[in-house]
Amino acid sequence: NFRLAPRFDAQAQSSMLRPNPKLEHALANSSANGLPPINVLPIAGQHLSILTQLIGAKSVLEVGTLGGYSSICFAEAGAKVTSIEIDPKHRETALQNVAGLDVEVLLGAALDVMPKLAEEGRRFDMVFIDADMTDHWEQFDWAVKLTRAGGCVFLDDVVAAMIKDGHPQEGKESILTQVGRDERVKATLVPTVACHPMAPNPVFNGYVLAIVKDR
Ligand code: SAM
Repeated sequence: NFRLAPRFDAQAQSSMLRPNPKLEHALANSSANGLPPINVLPIAGQHLSILTQLIGAKSVLEVGTLGGYSSICFAEAGAKVTSIEIDPKHRETALQNVAGLDVEVLLGAALDVMPKLAEEGRRFDMVFIDADMTDHWEQFDWAVKLTRAGGCVFLDDVVAAMIKDGHPQEGKESILTQVGRDERVKATLVPTVACHPMAPNPVFNGYVLAIVKDR
């Protein structure tokens, strides 16, 4: 039942998350620096942290750093994090927030930086895409090239990107169709209902989770 989502969301957040000074400082410092509060929700950060541990990821590429909230989740779960951020102020703030953790933040647009990482022969255990929603397919394509066989790509906000004014966007091929015919991966859509502090109602969204096959 959709209406009950806020209750269970709040319950999960208050009962399953432990105090985390690094994450709390990141939120406070990001807000003090005027960054928008569009980091993953704490319960979703815990999800990323568990996923990192489940696949034993030692290297994570993140697209969209903001203030480094999700970077901290990956790093505290044991991964070295390479994060890409287009906004210099966001990058500066993130660097303050991730101090002491194994996180590098590369300044630039995802579609400029990702090909360079590929050229350098970099490969990651997991790629998390959480930037602008306009280039999902191109970013996914590069993410697959940058992921080792058996690693995974997490493409966030796919449902939000496909819906405009409450309706599926017409005239544009769905990212689900594009990912679905990609023989390099086995993929699924994980639907989510999240309760954002700023939104009046629960937000229906979802992410693509893809495992990269042997090539
Ligand atoms: N992953 C972050 C977290 O949970 O803490 C939140 C990321 S926020 C939703 C999106 C970020 O992506 C913003 O900081 C924005 O400046 C950055 N961004 C937007 N378009 C980008 C692009 N093309 N390349 C790199 N970064 C981009």
